[in-house]
Amino acid sequence: MALTVTPIPCLSDNYAWLLRAADGRLAVCDPAEDAPVAAVVDSMGGKLDLILLTHHHGDHVAGVPGLVARYGAKVVGAAADRHRLPPLDQAVSPGDQVDVLGSTAAVLASDGHTRGHIAFHIADSHILLCGDTLFSLGCGRLLEGTAEQMFASLATLAALPGETLVCCGHEYTESNARFAITVEPDNAALKARIAEAHAQRATGKPTLPSTIASERAANPFMRAPDIATLARIRAGKDSFR
Ligand code: ZN
Ligand code: FE
Repeated sequence: MALTVTPIPCLSDNYAWLLRAADGRLAVCDPAEDAPVAAVVDSMGGKLDLILLTHHHGDHVAGVPGLVARYGAKVVGAAADRHRLPPLDQAVSPGDQVDVLGSTAAVLASDGHTRGHIAFHIADSHILLCGDTLFSLGCGRLLEGTAEQMFASLATLAALPGETLVCCGHEYTESNARFAITVEPDNAALKARIAEAHAQRATGKPTLPSTIASERAANPFMRAPDIATLARIRAGKDSFR
Protein backbone atom coordinates (compact mmCIF):
# COMPACT_ATOMS: atom_id res chain seq x y z
CA MET A 1 0.00 0.00 0.00
CA ALA A 2 1.55 3.26 -1.11
CA LEU A 3 2.57 6.03 1.27
CA THR A 4 2.16 9.78 0.88
CA VAL A 5 4.94 12.17 1.85
CA THR A 6 4.89 15.77 3.14
CA PRO A 7 7.74 18.11 4.12
CA ILE A 8 7.67 19.61 7.63
CA PRO A 9 9.88 22.72 7.87
CA CYS A 10 12.33 22.64 10.80
CA LEU A 11 15.04 25.07 11.94
CA SER A 12 15.92 27.62 9.25
CA ASP A 13 16.09 25.44 6.15
CA ASN A 14 15.64 21.77 7.13
CA TYR A 15 12.79 19.46 6.20
CA ALA A 16 11.62 16.48 8.18
CA TRP A 17 9.57 14.21 5.89
CA LEU A 18 6.25 12.86 7.16
CA LEU A 19 5.11 9.55 5.67
CA ARG A 20 1.48 8.55 5.94
CA ALA A 21 -0.05 5.16 5.15
CA ALA A 22 -3.58 4.76 3.78
CA ASP A 23 -4.67 3.48 7.21
CA GLY A 24 -3.43 6.70 8.85
CA ARG A 25 -0.23 5.39 10.41
CA LEU A 26 2.66 7.88 10.40
CA ALA A 27 6.44 7.83 10.19
CA VAL A 28 8.98 10.63 9.91
CA CYS A 29 12.46 10.89 8.42
CA ASP A 30 15.21 13.11 9.86
CA PRO A 31 13.36 15.16 12.50
CA ALA A 32 15.61 18.14 13.22
CA GLU A 33 13.21 19.26 15.93
CA ASP A 34 10.38 17.57 17.80
CA ALA A 35 7.89 20.44 18.16
CA PRO A 36 7.08 21.10 14.47
CA VAL A 37 6.77 17.36 13.83
CA ALA A 38 4.62 16.79 16.92
CA ALA A 39 2.30 19.62 15.86
CA VAL A 40 1.63 17.90 12.54
CA VAL A 41 1.40 14.39 14.04
CA ASP A 42 -1.09 15.59 16.65
CA SER A 43 -3.18 17.27 13.96
CA MET A 44 -3.29 13.92 12.13
CA GLY A 45 -4.30 11.69 15.03
CA GLY A 46 -1.49 11.83 17.53
CA LYS A 47 0.41 8.63 16.81
CA LEU A 48 3.89 8.24 15.29
CA ASP A 49 5.08 4.68 14.66
CA LEU A 50 8.51 5.05 13.14
CA ILE A 51 11.49 7.40 12.76
CA LEU A 52 13.98 6.90 9.90
CA LEU A 53 17.45 8.48 10.10
CA THR A 54 19.79 9.10 7.15
CA HIS A 55 22.83 10.30 9.10
CA HIS A 56 24.00 11.49 12.48
CA HIS A 57 24.09 15.29 12.14
CA GLY A 58 22.16 17.20 14.77
CA ASP A 59 19.97 18.92 12.21
CA HIS A 60 18.63 15.46 11.26
CA VAL A 61 18.35 13.72 14.64
CA ALA A 62 17.82 16.30 17.39
CA GLY A 63 14.04 15.80 17.40
CA VAL A 64 14.33 12.06 18.05
CA PRO A 65 14.38 11.96 21.88
CA GLY A 66 11.32 14.18 22.20
CA LEU A 67 9.35 12.22 19.60
CA VAL A 68 10.30 8.86 21.13
CA ALA A 69 9.25 10.10 24.57
CA ARG A 70 5.96 11.47 23.26
CA TYR A 71 4.90 8.67 20.88
CA GLY A 72 7.09 5.64 21.59
CA ALA A 73 8.17 5.64 17.93
CA LYS A 74 10.72 3.02 16.86
CA VAL A 75 13.98 4.38 15.46
CA VAL A 76 15.75 3.02 12.37
CA GLY A 77 19.27 4.08 11.38
CA ALA A 78 22.59 2.92 10.03
CA ALA A 79 24.35 0.13 11.90
CA ALA A 80 27.68 1.68 10.89
CA ASP A 81 26.74 4.93 12.66
CA ARG A 82 25.13 3.37 15.72
CA HIS A 83 27.78 4.87 17.99
CA ARG A 84 26.80 8.41 17.07
CA LEU A 85 23.07 8.12 16.40
CA PRO A 86 20.27 8.22 18.99
CA PRO A 87 19.49 4.73 20.36
CA LEU A 88 18.27 2.53 17.49
CA ASP A 89 15.51 -0.07 17.63
CA GLN A 90 16.56 -1.36 14.22
CA ALA A 91 20.12 -0.96 12.88
CA VAL A 92 20.29 -1.39 9.10
CA SER A 93 22.96 -1.63 6.42
CA PRO A 94 22.98 -0.97 2.68
CA GLY A 95 21.18 -3.83 0.94
CA ASP A 96 18.73 -4.33 3.79
CA GLN A 97 14.99 -3.88 3.47
CA VAL A 98 12.93 -2.11 6.12
CA ASP A 99 9.19 -2.28 6.67
CA VAL A 100 7.84 1.27 6.67
CA LEU A 101 4.14 1.34 7.57
CA GLY A 102 3.51 -1.72 5.40
CA SER A 103 5.66 -0.60 2.48
CA THR A 104 9.20 -1.83 1.87
CA ALA A 105 12.13 0.58 1.92
CA ALA A 106 15.43 -0.48 0.40
CA VAL A 107 18.45 0.84 2.30
CA LEU A 108 20.95 2.40 -0.13
CA ALA A 109 24.58 3.29 0.57
CA SER A 110 24.99 7.03 0.16
CA ASP A 111 28.37 7.90 1.64
CA GLY A 112 30.04 11.18 0.76
CA HIS A 113 28.52 13.88 2.99
CA THR A 114 29.30 11.58 5.91
CA ARG A 115 30.61 8.04 6.12
CA GLY A 116 27.72 5.77 7.00
CA HIS A 117 25.09 7.99 5.41
CA ILE A 118 22.18 5.92 4.06
CA ALA A 119 19.14 6.64 1.91
CA PHE A 120 15.75 4.93 1.93
CA HIS A 121 13.98 4.09 -1.34
CA ILE A 122 10.31 3.15 -0.99
CA ALA A 123 9.66 1.81 -4.48
CA ASP A 124 5.89 1.25 -4.25
CA SER A 125 5.41 4.89 -3.29
CA HIS A 126 8.12 6.41 -5.53
CA ILE A 127 9.76 8.02 -2.48
CA LEU A 128 13.48 8.59 -1.92
CA LEU A 129 14.60 9.87 1.49
CA CYS A 130 18.16 11.00 0.81
CA GLY A 131 19.17 13.28 3.69
CA ASP A 132 22.18 15.42 2.74
CA THR A 133 23.44 13.31 -0.19
CA LEU A 134 21.39 14.68 -3.08
CA PHE A 135 19.75 18.10 -3.02
CA SER A 136 17.74 19.70 -5.78
CA LEU A 137 20.40 21.16 -8.10
CA GLY A 138 23.14 20.23 -5.63
CA CYS A 139 24.71 17.60 -3.42
CA GLY A 140 25.96 17.50 0.15
CA ARG A 141 29.35 18.82 1.18
CA LEU A 142 32.06 16.20 1.43
CA LEU A 143 32.52 16.50 5.19
CA GLU A 144 33.76 12.95 5.80
CA GLY A 145 33.59 11.04 2.54
CA THR A 146 35.37 11.38 -0.79
CA ALA A 147 34.33 12.59 -4.22
CA GLU A 148 34.62 8.96 -5.32
CA GLN A 149 32.05 7.92 -2.71
CA MET A 150 29.70 10.80 -3.59
CA PHE A 151 30.00 9.96 -7.29
CA ALA A 152 28.97 6.36 -6.56
CA SER A 153 26.12 7.53 -4.31
CA LEU A 154 24.75 9.94 -6.91
CA ALA A 155 25.03 7.24 -9.60
CA THR A 156 22.98 4.89 -7.41
CA LEU A 157 20.28 7.53 -6.94
CA ALA A 158 20.33 8.54 -10.63
CA ALA A 159 19.50 4.93 -11.53
CA LEU A 160 16.18 5.04 -9.64
CA PRO A 161 12.98 5.48 -11.66
CA GLY A 162 12.54 9.02 -12.99
CA GLU A 163 9.24 9.59 -11.19
CA THR A 164 10.89 8.97 -7.79
CA LEU A 165 10.26 11.86 -5.40
CA VAL A 166 13.50 13.34 -4.08
CA CYS A 167 12.86 14.11 -0.40
CA CYS A 168 16.09 15.70 0.79
CA GLY A 169 17.12 17.38 4.01
CA HIS A 170 17.35 21.06 3.11
CA GLU A 171 15.67 23.88 1.20
CA TYR A 172 18.86 24.77 -0.69
CA THR A 173 17.43 24.84 -4.21
CA GLU A 174 17.67 28.58 -4.91
CA SER A 175 21.18 28.90 -3.51
CA ASN A 176 22.23 25.76 -5.41
CA ALA A 177 20.69 27.26 -8.56
CA ARG A 178 22.98 30.31 -8.42
CA PHE A 179 26.00 28.02 -8.65
CA ALA A 180 24.50 25.39 -10.98
CA ILE A 181 23.80 27.93 -13.71
CA THR A 182 27.50 28.87 -13.75
CA VAL A 183 28.36 25.22 -14.44
CA GLU A 184 25.72 24.65 -17.14
CA PRO A 185 24.67 28.10 -18.43
CA ASP A 186 23.00 26.62 -21.53
CA ASN A 187 21.04 23.81 -19.86
CA ALA A 188 17.37 24.45 -20.70
CA ALA A 189 16.10 21.97 -18.10
CA LEU A 190 18.16 23.76 -15.45
CA LYS A 191 16.76 27.14 -16.47
CA ALA A 192 13.23 25.75 -16.30
CA ARG A 193 13.86 24.24 -12.88
CA ILE A 194 15.27 27.54 -11.60
CA ALA A 195 12.18 29.41 -12.81
CA GLU A 196 9.98 26.79 -11.15
CA ALA A 197 11.90 27.08 -7.85
CA HIS A 198 11.67 30.89 -7.85
CA ALA A 199 7.91 30.67 -8.41
CA GLN A 200 7.55 28.09 -5.62
CA ARG A 201 9.51 30.19 -3.13
CA ALA A 202 7.74 33.41 -4.16
CA THR A 203 4.47 31.80 -3.04
CA GLY A 204 6.00 30.38 0.14
CA LYS A 205 6.01 26.77 -1.07
CA PRO A 206 8.80 24.22 -0.67
CA THR A 207 10.76 23.48 -3.86
CA LEU A 208 10.70 19.85 -2.76
CA PRO A 209 10.17 17.07 -3.37
CA SER A 210 11.95 17.19 -6.69
CA THR A 211 12.12 14.12 -8.92
CA ILE A 212 15.01 11.94 -10.05
CA ALA A 213 14.12 12.77 -13.68
CA SER A 214 14.36 16.49 -12.93
CA GLU A 215 17.70 16.10 -11.16
CA ARG A 216 19.10 13.92 -13.96
CA ALA A 217 18.24 16.71 -16.41
CA ALA A 218 19.18 19.76 -14.33
CA ASN A 219 21.57 18.92 -11.48
CA PRO A 220 25.24 19.43 -12.49
CA PHE A 221 26.44 17.24 -9.60
CA MET A 222 24.30 14.30 -10.66
CA ARG A 223 25.24 14.97 -14.30
CA ALA A 224 29.01 15.04 -13.67
CA PRO A 225 30.45 12.46 -16.10
CA ASP A 226 33.33 11.35 -13.87
CA ILE A 227 34.75 11.60 -10.36
CA ALA A 228 37.24 14.33 -11.26
CA THR A 229 34.49 16.56 -12.63
CA LEU A 230 32.34 16.01 -9.56
CA ALA A 231 35.32 16.82 -7.29
CA ARG A 232 36.02 20.00 -9.26
CA ILE A 233 32.47 21.36 -9.18
CA ARG A 234 32.01 20.36 -5.52
CA ALA A 235 35.16 22.35 -4.66
CA GLY A 236 33.87 25.21 -6.81
CA LYS A 237 30.60 25.25 -4.90
CA ASP A 238 32.42 25.18 -1.54
CA SER A 239 34.11 28.50 -2.36
CA PHE A 240 31.22 30.04 -4.37
CA ARG A 241 29.79 33.31 -3.08
ZN1 ZN B 1 24.27 16.64 7.30
FE1 FE C 1 21.79 18.67 7.15
